[in-house]
Amino acid sequence: MPKQNAYDILFEPVVIGPVTAKNRFYQVPHACGMGHLRPNAHAAMRGVKAEGGWAVVSTEEAEIHPSSDLSPYSEQRIWDERDIPALQLMTDSVHQHGALAAIELVHNGHHAPNLFSRLPALAPSSMSLDISYPRQARAMSKRDIAEFRRWHRTAARNAKTAGFDIVYAYAGHKMSLLHHFLLPQYNQRSDEYGGSIENRVRLAREVLEETREEIGDSCAVAFRFAVDELAGTDGMQALEEGRAVVELLAELPDLWDVNVAGWDNDSQTTRFQPQDGYQVPYIDWVKQVTQKPVVGVNRTSSPDLMLSLVKRGVLDFIGAARPSIADPFLPNKIHEDRIDEIRECIGCNICASCDSMGVPIRCTQNPTMGEEWRRRWHPEIISPKVSDSPALVVGAGPAGLECALQLARRGYPVTLAEASSQLGGRVLGESGLKGLSAWLRVRDNRAYELERMANLEIFLESRLSAEDILEFEFANVFIATGSTWRRDGIGRSRRQAIPGIDRENTLTPDDIMNGITLPNGPIVVYDDDQCYMGGVIADHLSALGHDIVLVTSASVVSPWTAYTLEQARVQRGLIEQGVEIRANESVTLVEPGQIETACVFSGRKSRIPCGSLVLVTERDSENTVATALAKLRDDAPGKIIETLEVIGDALAPGLIADAVYSGHLAARNFEVDPQEITAAIYRREMPSLQDLTWEKPSN
Ligand code: ADP
Ligand code: SF4
Repeated sequence: MPKQNAYDILFEPVVIGPVTAKNRFYQVPHACGMGHLRPNAHAAMRGVKAEGGWAVVSTEEAEIHPSSDLSPYSEQRIWDERDIPALQLMTDSVHQHGALAAIELVHNGHHAPNLFSRLPALAPSSMSLDISYPRQARAMSKRDIAEFRRWHRTAARNAKTAGFDIVYAYAGHKMSLLHHFLLPQYNQRSDEYGGSIENRVRLAREVLEETREEIGDSCAVAFRFAVDELAGTDGMQALEEGRAVVELLAELPDLWDVNVAGWDNDSQTTRFQPQDGYQVPYIDWVKQVTQKPVVGVNRTSSPDLMLSLVKRGVLDFIGAARPSIADPFLPNKIHEDRIDEIRECIGCNICASCDSMGVPIRCTQNPTMGEEWRRRWHPEIISPKVSDSPALVVGAGPAGLECALQLARRGYPVTLAEASSQLGGRVLGESGLKGLSAWLRVRDNRAYELERMANLEIFLESRLSAEDILEFEFANVFIATGSTWRRDGIGRSRRQAIPGIDRENTLTPDDIMNGITLPNGPIVVYDDDQCYMGGVIADHLSALGHDIVLVTSASVVSPWTAYTLEQARVQRGLIEQGVEIRANESVTLVEPGQIETACVFSGRKSRIPCGSLVLVTERDSENTVATALAKLRDDAPGKIIETLEVIGDALAPGLIADAVYSGHLAARNFEVDPQEITAAIYRREMPSLQDLTWEKPSN
């Protein structure tokens, strides 16, 4: 038994209706891009959370009927009993570790486009679909409402059969019918389901009562409800109608799971909301209204904040999605007094971006996330070394740090050489930009671990050449030398250098991150990268007091940030700071004191005064050392380099998450049978043979 610690209160059991959670750590429902298409991957990922100490582990939203079809996104499905076996994989994997399994039943209303099922979308009142598609949802008749209630009841019954302990009714994120009925902007009905708050809450009440009636003898009924839309008087507010809903339904569910809507407000990034526990002011009254346990999310990995939330009577359960993704073993680490080992979420929403893109989840901090089944990666276990062969890792950015750490964890003697005086690489620079300071945790968590490794040596201020490396006679070399931003203007919208560009005086994000002093005069930030960096640089320089014109070849600022749920905030922030945004323009010519741009559609030219031009276009991999080393190795076969692997941005520039993953992968694969590596790449979930019943169309 671990010794008593200051956080014991977090490990008290809590009763939820007919079931009991073994502690207060609660993985709330969160999307993961696995869903009904990848049940094995889903079960393995959730099982790891249970193993890591979470007392409750939930699914993502689970569609209850074909009229709530979220295709092409892969969420859970419980359309009928045929979905039970796949869901049972998950409940079994969670139960194996003594945790409770929860399922978030949902009908998504007009948020579900039904692109696969082709059924009409349903909504309280007729309205546009929640995606850009030229079809509307129809207003639900009383019969539709009765049908919906029947589907929910059936899904609850099937959920119980699948082994779930907690069954949700879901009124959150503006993504579910129950929420749409509560919100006046969606519900313009004049019958007993519309108008007053008592009427709008009617459907939620009926569904909660019926769910309890159906499965409440052995399963807990949870209600997930967004108490506030963060829209002031234009939306539901926590202390107005939000509170009224909790008062009206107070003792009906066995558990209240409360948050704010929509998803972009609930899952804010550290860039726009640096404060852990930012939802507390919206939900801290809920426990005064209900006797039932309350769970809320805080995007925190801090046990002290968790403790204080429980002690102050704000929450019974510490809800988490992202902290459980960044570190599935967070509860166990607190329990075992290994708090310093917690991998802290950096609040970047790369995890959310995967759901937005319809692919399995990944995480910047936790490269094993989403790979539990496909590659059989465990976040806390790594296979031991195969030999005593020493390894050299060149470059201590996210790729080099992760690679060195995992090689050392495997037991290899590791040397990490870094050209600069600090660990961190690009993370150091990027975390110095406005809003990104939390990204430094990528370095800090790894630096802490590396320090404790007896079999690892770090050499700072050690820029190595290929000759140096050969001289040291390392048999295994991992090159993680990163990348630099281009100075020639080659980017998404043009594949040749911009005419007239003066490479000496043109700036890039590297210069800004290095703190270069900018001359006076109008600064043009040209974003032909279209990911996050263009908006960040414009924001950063504008906050330093510069007048900024942001020229982007995209139609909105930083379009990729829509995947991380940030795009609206990015654009709004720049507009509010007075940044002039010129969308759909590509820079075509640089002249003294001005640039020429062309509309990306019509080619129509404009001229803009420009004192300094900051190019955010593409990056060049820094692979000179790797190339020279490969040549030396080939030219001098007497010198034995058995492994020469280029990783991270030196291989192909990408996200910090990609660099971490690349470093992790290289370390895991080191001295592993190539056939095993190939098998993992080809591993995927396939329809079973019994589903393959081709039939000729006959009517
Ligand atoms: P990644 O994202 O792939 O980890 P980074 O750009 O963050 O890449 O980090 C690369 C690191 O490699 C930087 O810290 C840089 O100082 C270091 N570096 C580059 N070239 C050398 C070299 N020849 N010897 C040692 N370190 C190097
Ligand atoms: Fe946190 Fe980023 Fe990982 Fe998501 S991807 S859990 S936000 S570190």
